[in-house]
Amino acid sequence: MRPLRRPARPGTYPDFSVRSTYAQLRLDLAAVRLRRPSARMRTALGIASPTPITLLDVTLGLQDIAINPPPGRRRGAPRPTPLQAGRSLLMRRVVAQYSEANDPLRAGMGRFCSYCEQMLSEFIATEHIVAKAPWPLTSVSWDNFLLSCRACNSYKGDHPDRGEVTAWRLMPPPADDLEAYLEIRRRYLWPDTDANAYRGLLPALYFRRRSGGWRRANADRSVRNGLRCVDHGREPNKIVIADMPVKGRVLRREVRVLLVPDGDDASFARETLDLNRMDLDGVDSGDDNRMWDRTQRWLEAVETFTDLSQAWSPQLWTAACRSARTGFLSTWVRVLELRQGKTTRFPGDPTRTMMQAFMEAMTQQRVQPYGPYPGTDVRYIP
Ligand SMILES: [Zn+2]
Repeated sequence: MRPLRRPARPGTYPDFSVRSTYAQLRLDLAAVRLRRPSARMRTALGIASPTPITLLDVTLGLQDIAINPPPGRRRGAPRPTPLQAGRSLLMRRVVAQYSEANDPLRAGMGRFCSYCEQMLSEFIATEHIVAKAPWPLTSVSWDNFLLSCRACNSYKGDHPDRGEVTAWRLMPPPADDLEAYLEIRRRYLWPDTDANAYRGLLPALYFRRRSGGWRRANADRSVRNGLRCVDHGREPNKIVIADMPVKGRVLRREVRVLLVPDGDDASFARETLDLNRMDLDGVDSGDDNRMWDRTQRWLEAVETFTDLSQAWSPQLWTAACRSARTGFLSTWVRVLELRQGKTTRFPGDPTRTMMQAFMEAMTQQRVQPYGPYPGTDVRYIP
């Protein structure tokens, strides 16, 4: 995962900081009054006009719905009560509140999924790190936002929910949403708070053996000159075929790039992989192209860096950096790292290494100071 630095909260967005005390969070939420709450809403919530409705009212209402969900309405069933109707109106107000965060998040972190790193071409949901339905009190907190693709978002869903968090504990369920938030943050590897986000989930090349099973290619072979994609595959099977040079021969093999939990935080990384199901191959799923795309970017990175090592030119370097803009930054970084990018001198400026030059090109620009991958926390990438 690309380690992220969430952009600063815009001055226009209220400070519902989950790092403040829970009591303060409740005060923050209580201080924010919804614009123009209608008389119908006030009536529905049993709040006497002209008392303003605060976000605290709304989030507590949502919490009540999450704990005691109203039964679904069947054909012929009675119309929703005014209270139910009022809550659904209010829920839309909350959605509008966190939608305000979407533009600044995209500007600050780029149009990439914060988990799987694929480029997002369609509408990007504001991702709630700690799910909003079971834990509504943190649903509008700036600290709880990332960006997510459709696949990561739908697999993650409302997990972990109240039942799951309670099951982790030997003690009673978390006393409140803040306690649950902190526990969920500790339980997984997150791109915005964990220094090991990159090291914890490393992309690695696997190939299919003749016997059918998958085997991890050793580090040298997985990035060797001559490794080339010969077939990108297509929907729905998403099979990628590559030529792999081995001891003077070329093996034609089906390949995949998986994310492998690694290092001290491997157990947290495994939980994250399971949460978003980033381990799936996406076969027969039109929505899930994460592994397919990641595999193609790996092969493209190997071919690009091979070309550069054989005949460096400024034009080729520019073209390489252009290819690397299209998502999966940590896959590009991993390929370069395995190709000794941290010790190889950059031909365009021998005072720097290839890795330094590449990371600068990815995160800095001359005119706009943030490059194609804004918000990358470069301290935690080689
Ligand atoms: Zn994703």
